[in-house]
Amino acid sequence: MQVIQSTKLANVCYEIRGPVLEEAMRLEAAGHRILKLNTGNPAAFGFECPPEILEDMLRNVGEAHGYGDAKGLLSARRAVMQHYQTVGIELSVEDIYLGNGVSELIQMSMQALLDDGDEVLVPAPDYPLWTASVSLSGGTAVHYRCDEQADWMPDLADVERKVTDRTKAIVIINPNNPTGAVYDEEVLRGLTEIARRHNLIVCSDEIYDKILFDGATHTPTATLAPDLLTLTFNGLSKAYRVAGYRSGWLAVCGPKAHAQSYIEGLTILANMRLCANMPAQHAVAAALGGRQSINDLVLPGGRLLEQRDTAYELLTQIPGVSCVKPKGAIYAFPRLDPKVYKIKDDREMVLDLLRSEKIMIVHGTGFNWPEPDHFRIVNLPPAQELADAVTRIGTFLDGYGQP
Ligand code: PLP
Repeated sequence: MQVIQSTKLANVCYEIRGPVLEEAMRLEAAGHRILKLNTGNPAAFGFECPPEILEDMLRNVGEAHGYGDAKGLLSARRAVMQHYQTVGIELSVEDIYLGNGVSELIQMSMQALLDDGDEVLVPAPDYPLWTASVSLSGGTAVHYRCDEQADWMPDLADVERKVTDRTKAIVIINPNNPTGAVYDEEVLRGLTEIARRHNLIVCSDEIYDKILFDGATHTPTATLAPDLLTLTFNGLSKAYRVAGYRSGWLAVCGPKAHAQSYIEGLTILANMRLCANMPAQHAVAAALGGRQSINDLVLPGGRLLEQRDTAYELLTQIPGVSCVKPKGAIYAFPRLDPKVYKIKDDREMVLDLLRSEKIMIVHGTGFNWPEPDHFRIVNLPPAQELADAVTRIGTFLDGYGQP
């Protein structure tokens, strides 16, 4: 008898590690060196763990071999609480859940919220774990469009049009993966105003909040909406370059009296997974309270800024390729002019690139972008390696998809 996957997985896609990666691994097994520009994993490109984080983790590892509190280590939750209180968000340690990365908390937040057929507004393009988590929870992700012509800001009229009586929540990813957009206060106020009018929960994924370029500033959504239930997600993977520690948090901000049942649901799910990785939780207070060395990487002279510039400049020199300059995060999401490149299936295009240039990128439709005319590149390799990769992408594209 065949063992068949559950129908719950029917609409669950996560192309960042999908069939293209399987092909990359086959090529690696056959002896090829593949430049993998598919995941935002800073350590893979030589970014080091800040020393105080490593030190705190090592110092505590001897005491961290038992299960801990299901919601998280008190010292870590206290550090997260103080972090938000300094920007004016009122919350207590009880409002904070530590998780095995933001990934786990995203899934828990949706599992606890959705009944079959409930809808969640998710940006297009999105970080696809959001859409996948909504689907796995029985919900329907309804994508609102971000407007490339307007620096990838969410199209507020489209958001409003897509609200129905089944809509329960709106997801905001700021700074955005994959576009690199950083939303200004006006846009965030527009989004929270829609949430207010329609009684939506706000889910604000702020994992790139410290990776900002060109003087961009980040506004935590919860600071603009103290009257709304806002779930704020963040963690150590990106700004502190320790993605492998699997350490993230969810802060439940805003009024909670009407949400006790939902919060009990979240706590049941936290209890069921026993606790998050304990050694890494010891790193949270050191990270939030220590020197913010990410600034050295994003300010003038910093490696991440230099790499963002290199990728942007070389991508936009490829004929038929345009790109909104990313103001934050670690990616670029360039557009392939459909008049120049007749691409019917963008996953096939990235497979062709992989086979010919041994470079792995992710196709735009993998981010729930509806047309096959974008791709995402990770801006993490050192500038010279990144420049070589983008030049080779240009060579590959020359003549691609033309009759
Ligand atoms: N949210 C966004 C927008 C991301 O880009 C990522 C990872 O790339 C995550 C969440 C997951 O992060 P974590 O490593 O904390 O699970």
